[in-house]
Amino acid sequence: MRRLSHPHICWTDNDGPRILGINPWITDFAAFNVWSRPVGLLACLDMLRNAGASVALLDCMDRTWEDVAWPTPGQYATGRYPKETLPLPPAMASMERRYSRYGLPHDHVRQALAALDPPPEAILVTSIMTYWYPGSLHMLDLAAELWPDVPRLLGGTYATLCADHARIHADADLIMQGSMEKRTNWDTLWNLLHRPAPPLPDNAGLGLALDLYNEPNYAPILGSRGCPFTCDYCASHALYPKFTQGEPDRIFASIASEYERGVRDFAFYDDALLVNPDQWLWPLLTRITEAGLDLRLHTPNAMHVRSLTRDVCHRLKQAGLHTVRLGLETTDFENRHDVKLTEQEWKDGANTLLEAGFDLDDIGVYILFGLPNQNPANVEDAIRHVQAFGFRPHLAHYTPIPGSPMFHEAVAASPYPLEQEPLFQNNSIWPCVPGGFNWEDARRWKSLLHGTG
Ligand code: SF4
Repeated sequence: MRRLSHPHICWTDNDGPRILGINPWITDFAAFNVWSRPVGLLACLDMLRNAGASVALLDCMDRTWEDVAWPTPGQYATGRYPKETLPLPPAMASMERRYSRYGLPHDHVRQALAALDPPPEAILVTSIMTYWYPGSLHMLDLAAELWPDVPRLLGGTYATLCADHARIHADADLIMQGSMEKRTNWDTLWNLLHRPAPPLPDNAGLGLALDLYNEPNYAPILGSRGCPFTCDYCASHALYPKFTQGEPDRIFASIASEYERGVRDFAFYDDALLVNPDQWLWPLLTRITEAGLDLRLHTPNAMHVRSLTRDVCHRLKQAGLHTVRLGLETTDFENRHDVKLTEQEWKDGANTLLEAGFDLDDIGVYILFGLPNQNPANVEDAIRHVQAFGFRPHLAHYTPIPGSPMFHEAVAASPYPLEQEPLFQNNSIWPCVPGGFNWEDARRWKSLLHGTG
């Protein structure tokens, strides 16, 4: 049951405090929607609602506001965002790039928030990439202007990994480091609301409040949090120290309910999708197949190639996997920074995928680009190797993330002050490539990827 207070921002019908979750705009040089959803925020809202709060969502990246012109969607509900050009942040003023705010127009958002009646009793703003913090800070300022006495919380990746920076720059009552189900975060939040903290609900952190979207055209699937591996360039452990997996019945119920609302494109958000698949993935795929759901599954996060046995590929294909992304990283198999993968394992996994009947156009292979002290010739070799298989190579631009084992190496290799200013952690500026981003090299890499270089 939802109480209407604005066509797109509705309070759920609970008696507890009203808590508004906000996914702010992206501020960047480029942005493309690949089934993006703020799953951390949606998990918080689910948890809060289950604990009795009335919750509502404002997602500035939500294309379902019918009064906003949005670029025509691309394949499988992916696509571009509307954008408004912004001045470059002062720290980046010398860069000759266009910087934009992506998502719903600022005026629409301001008007929607100002019209919210009844107003929130707490506001929870998320942050997805560390270098998108200007959007989060601006949203906190807007909330402070509209409701100066309402507590404001900042959570998400920037709040967790750049907490010292956020404490200085964010106008928030609480910088929430780590997930909301952490006892200290949970208790502090309820304390700010002047209420005793209720017990943490079941499934905390794994349920998603997907029903807060009106007429969505895609949905995330979250079967697990965290990852049992520790790749040098990844901050998964700093964000989610424990690897936890959910229950297949709950995950299936979430998919079935979105399917009933017309959603056909579902994207797995798991970092380690194929680890312990008996726990939830196999039962889930069986349920999907038995229920005859005619959906398209996508794995925008790379799957581990060495797990792609014939049985695994068959199960994924049968349940409706369409978009396949594989993590290769490099073809320098002796010097990897991620989960170990031999050349033979890579070839076996890739061939098994092809034998299972996946469309070559739907298979993309991530190759890491822009690592500290990386030899570009290795990247070029990997591109040609992937093309020889008939797969599409994608450059996964390295992001120096605080909390990742490689961050200190990145700081040493980069000409930018990565530790002091999260804006420089943006992978679009090639922060660890000597000389940084330049259009000539960008065009060259593009033609190599298209097989014309
Ligand atoms: S890169 Fe992937 S496999 Fe490696 S630690 Fe991060 S989430 Fe896990």
